[in-house]
Amino acid sequence: MRVETVLTEEQIASRTRELAQQIQRAYAESRPLLLSVLKGSVFFLADLARELGSGYPIDFMAVASYDGTRSTRAVEIRLDVSTHIEGRDVLIVEDIVDSGLTLEYLLGVLKARGATSVRVVTLLFKSDAFQGRDRPDFIGFELPNEFVVGYGMDLNEEWRNLKFVGRLVP
Ligand code: 5GP
Repeated sequence: MRVETVLTEEQIASRTRELAQQIQRAYAESRPLLLSVLKGSVFFLADLARELGSGYPIDFMAVASYDGTRSTRAVEIRLDVSTHIEGRDVLIVEDIVDSGLTLEYLLGVLKARGATSVRVVTLLFKSDAFQGRDRPDFIGFELPNEFVVGYGMDLNEEWRNLKFVGRLVP
């Protein structure tokens, strides 16, 4: 299996810098909780948090989704945050939003816990596959509906280590 580059390390770094500036402008005075959805988003979180600067707390959640058919897919929390969510501004940090079902579930959970606001930043967005209501608030790159790996994203735990995003070519 070979990996063909879709986004270079430089493209990711420069777009992450722009996203951080957008986020800083959008929140003005407040410092949202950066909520990373494990595991794929940890590389993006690390780079984004360093561009954002000090004062942004981070926390993690892990969810598992069960593939029945797409429409019967269920999502379940595997690891929960250690932060009290009520009254907080929360910024969900995602590596990739595909159907948007994982995100829709998380948005519901966080709002039910009384978050003041919940917004979403995702490095990658597959707009053609998206079935959710609202697009993510901050989007790095829109991608066609194809499977990608690297920069934290895996196929069976492989390829996360790549510094770029690529597609697998047999
Ligand atoms: P959604 O619920 O939006 O359909 O799926 C979101 C999750 O599916 C992502 O957080 C990611 O874990 C996984 N996923 C979706 N598309 C891709 C992809 O192209 N590559 C990889 N490695 N994971 C993906």
